[in-house]
Amino acid sequence: MTTANPLLVESALPAFDAIRAEHVLPAVEAVLAEYRSAVTAMTAEGAVHDFERVMLAQERLEQRLGKVWSPVSHLHSVADSPALREAYDAALEKITDFSAELGQNRALYAAVKAVADAEGATLPADRRALIDHALRDFKLSGVALEEPARSRFRAIANELSKLGTGFANAVLDATDAWQHHITDERDLAGIPASGRAVLRQYAKEQDLDGYLVTLKQPAVHAVMTYAEDRLLREKVYWAYQTRASDQGPDAGKYDNSERIERLMALRHEAAQLLGFANAAEESLATKMAESTQTVLDFLADLAARAKPVARKELDALRAFAAERLDLANLEPWDAGYASEKLRQERYALDEEQIKPYFPLPSVIDGLFAVTQKLYGIELKPREDVATWHADARYYDVLDADGRVFAGVYMDLYARSGKRGGAWMDVCRSRFRDGEALQLPVAYLTCNFAPPTEHAPALLTHDDVLTLFHEFGHGLHHLLTEVDLPSVGGIDGVEWDAVELPSQFMENFAWNREALDLFARHYQTGERLPDELFQRMLDARHFHAGLFLVRQLEFGLFDFHLHLDYDPERGARPMAVLEDVRRQVAVLHPPAWQRFPHAFTHIFAGGYAAGYYSYLWAEVLSADAFERFEQAGVIDRETGEAFRREILAVGATRPALESFVAFRGRAPEPNALLRSYGLAA
Ligand SMILES: [Zn+2]
Repeated sequence: MTTANPLLVESALPAFDAIRAEHVLPAVEAVLAEYRSAVTAMTAEGAVHDFERVMLAQERLEQRLGKVWSPVSHLHSVADSPALREAYDAALEKITDFSAELGQNRALYAAVKAVADAEGATLPADRRALIDHALRDFKLSGVALEEPARSRFRAIANELSKLGTGFANAVLDATDAWQHHITDERDLAGIPASGRAVLRQYAKEQDLDGYLVTLKQPAVHAVMTYAEDRLLREKVYWAYQTRASDQGPDAGKYDNSERIERLMALRHEAAQLLGFANAAEESLATKMAESTQTVLDFLADLAARAKPVARKELDALRAFAAERLDLANLEPWDAGYASEKLRQERYALDEEQIKPYFPLPSVIDGLFAVTQKLYGIELKPREDVATWHADARYYDVLDADGRVFAGVYMDLYARSGKRGGAWMDVCRSRFRDGEALQLPVAYLTCNFAPPTEHAPALLTHDDVLTLFHEFGHGLHHLLTEVDLPSVGGIDGVEWDAVELPSQFMENFAWNREALDLFARHYQTGERLPDELFQRMLDARHFHAGLFLVRQLEFGLFDFHLHLDYDPERGARPMAVLEDVRRQVAVLHPPAWQRFPHAFTHIFAGGYAAGYYSYLWAEVLSADAFERFEQAGVIDRETGEAFRREILAVGATRPALESFVAFRGRAPEPNALLRSYGLAA
């Protein structure tokens, strides 16, 4: 009986205590059927096409689907079981098929276009943005094309999706294919106990004695950062940096060279079918950067400023390596190792020394205190809300006048059945539908080490940054004042701007005044000592130049590859990379290195011609924070302005406009460089 299905019962919050795996598929099928017939009616001969009946109706249908799917997909992430996973997979396939069908619906596109033509110019900004985004997405999915271009575009899209999967699989296979067995523990000299435990575990998994060095991230990290055996480092570097290529121990076996050629050719063709000059231009259709030249200038400017600093850092590292580590000629496989030794010598930072100052309950109190001082909002725990686990808590979010305007679930400890990592996800979106107002609700999920018998959960400083970061995403969702979900909160916000509110919040975990609100020793109550904090700050800037030039190398390579593609010449990834390295790199890898062949971000992830956005968002967040610094950091008036101009408006106007409204000018990179310790 569908009426008894808790996923289909209207309620303010999901009934987490009642949802079972067997509810998933019937609920998803029911809402999809409802959705499908509503769209059929909407696009039928003679149907009236106005904002209300086309756009608002779709928002309502999306919310209905979201109310069913959001708790299911959340449970799949935080409280998984075999039964739930099975139901989830089956339902996900139906939803994926449905949204593909919806995205290719020409009649729906025509209906939206009719609304745009009839009412577009007269609508308020949020409604106008909703229509613009819908039309843009139809355009980018090729639906707006006429035949034969439309069929060709769809064929390309299918092949691209297969190539992306093939690329990622080749990297996975190449990663799994190589291993190096070690039986003599002396060969692991320098690798700390935690790293050895990882290598031991890999050996155990294959019923081997001793240790197994693999190309999985933790193993590569342990060897490249700590192993004293230079030959071992070189061996791992050689295998790792040639994965899925024509070089290295498995040369030619999982080679992605052909796939890169084909991917680039098809991306270029698809972009041109859509009317763009190239795939880089197409990528910017959903981003804040105004033109490809803007991105190139942005990266070139940062490169010019970071490179001299990186070179100085490298010179110092070379001198240190020669003098102290007996490494006369610093090779790429020495850099991480020497760098870690130098870092230890300079700062001697011990995580165990820092953690007692960050007991989780105080950190949460501090986080809430910071947001209260900035935005005047308050978070109050509720005991009467059903959750999925005893660790999860629900909080009402209250405005200065005591009115509840949002809510957030927080589930912060690692446990089995819970996916790793940290993220913010949408439970409910703010949605005004006639008289009814649905309030925004977020899930905030982390995987911190739980409390023990003797101590509360103690966070590393990285954990604190993670919590502030995800809470920043949460505030973006919760503080929205937009009534239409698809352009409210984080939804619809340009790709390269969506990390602004999250990275912005991290700044407070580096700020003395904010830290003083919560960083206290859990036993003695002593505040984080100045001397320790100073060392943390210094270590934060350690090798910032080298870090930046690497990020710039990736960003420039990705962007040039897509921007300069020419069918006559082909993709030439190694030649493009060589050019970029001449511009920005300070430590040049050997000629056989094949970084592009495992660059899944851009060939199999969503980052094609978009890798630059990591740095772009950092510029925005550092620059925004600078206005707070100028006002004394924890400043209510500046907080109100940030809330009003950035957090509240969602995607109802371009991110650049929002930024300028807050900052009074376009973004500038000086604050970022200063936060890296690179500017005068
Ligand atoms: Zn983020």
